[in-house]
Amino acid sequence: MKYQVDKNGFYGEFGGAYVPEILYKCVHDLQDAYLPIIESETFKAEYHALLKDYVGRPSPLYFARRMSEQYGCQLYLKREDLNHTGAHKINNTIGQILLAKKMGKTRIIAETGAGQHGVATATVCALMNMKCEVFMGATDVERQHTNVERMKMLGAEVHPVRTGNMTLSDACSEAIRDWCCHPADTFYIVGSTMGPHPYPDLVARMQSVISEEIKWQLEEKTGRNYPDYLVACIGGGSNAAGTIYHYMDDERVKIVLAEAGGHGWDTDYTAATIHRGTTGILHGAKMLVMQDGDGQIQEAFTISAGLDYPGVGPMHSNMAKQGRTQVLSINDDEAIYGGYELTRMEGIIPAIESAHAIAVLKKLNFKPTDVVVLTVSGRGDKDVETYLKNKEMAKEYGEF
Ligand SMILES: *Cc1c(COP(=O)(O)O)cnc(C)c1O
Repeated sequence: MKYQVDKNGFYGEFGGAYVPEILYKCVHDLQDAYLPIIESETFKAEYHALLKDYVGRPSPLYFARRMSEQYGCQLYLKREDLNHTGAHKINNTIGQILLAKKMGKTRIIAETGAGQHGVATATVCALMNMKCEVFMGATDVERQHTNVERMKMLGAEVHPVRTGNMTLSDACSEAIRDWCCHPADTFYIVGSTMGPHPYPDLVARMQSVISEEIKWQLEEKTGRNYPDYLVACIGGGSNAAGTIYHYMDDERVKIVLAEAGGHGWDTDYTAATIHRGTTGILHGAKMLVMQDGDGQIQEAFTISAGLDYPGVGPMHSNMAKQGRTQVLSINDDEAIYGGYELTRMEGIIPAIESAHAIAVLKKLNFKPTDVVVLTVSGRGDKDVETYLKNKEMAKEYGEF
């Protein structure tokens, strides 16, 4: 239990709940309520029934034969891209909306960057007949138009946020502001392992179904229930948290995570928070944050809208600092190449976020017997234009 949250909501020096006084009561109510509810038999039954029949779980664990040959290992892909709505985010929103209902809340709010979490939230709100409002940076509203239309069709109200850089970080701030105005009836569905305690732990638990399935699927396919390597991309950290959750304390398993390097972690155009960040408080928790000497948050830059966040959740801040995880910075061009490579070799177009994880394979030296499980966090339909427009970028790694 070395890397789990403690009873005060800390992972080592990171985490906690740094919220304005007006939110104390609702954050504390949530801290008291979440474990008894999500560990109850009724919750588990409803949650798992929806994951099975609505989301389509278990997601396959697929042996990628050609990519295995290419990289000299036994590569298995955990196919979160095949979930309903096209990514892992729905695992979390299903869980949180059930929790919101059991807590008697009637109005749902959420933040979104690329729009994936907004769509996953709007989806479960339609399913549960709940009022849904989504905060989204005005820049992202323009860049991610299809997801805005999807949210509207699902019945959500989308609020463009015009403060700051008008991206994800500003949308989070605005959602917290709205929450302050409606603490009694509103449930804030947070989209990643970030925010004040208990959100990082709550989201990690909701995503932990990923590694729960990996365990028995690996046992079935290889006769051993643990891999030598786990690989995932990391933005706020939720798909990575789900992938590693049941292996965190198992030191036989190496964990390698890919953060978004943008033009390079040592340039001004990066989202490589673990490489570049220092300890700070952002959106209610202490974590690694990209900030200047005065504590002003620096804008994150990456080709991938879903990894475009200047912080990384407290669980991952701590695990990276303790040396439990190896974190690689993957640049835009490497991710583009990784996306094309998986597409051409396995017929799977990954989300550009997930393509960062694919690019990790080039950087590791495997033994032929090494079992590697890599999470494909989402599908790439939303990124086809980005791949085509930026194909040239990846030329130095090979031609497609
Ligand atoms: C949102 C998103 C991510 C990044 O978020 P995490 O919380 O770090 O998982 C990664 N991949 C996809 C497909 C996403 O939609």
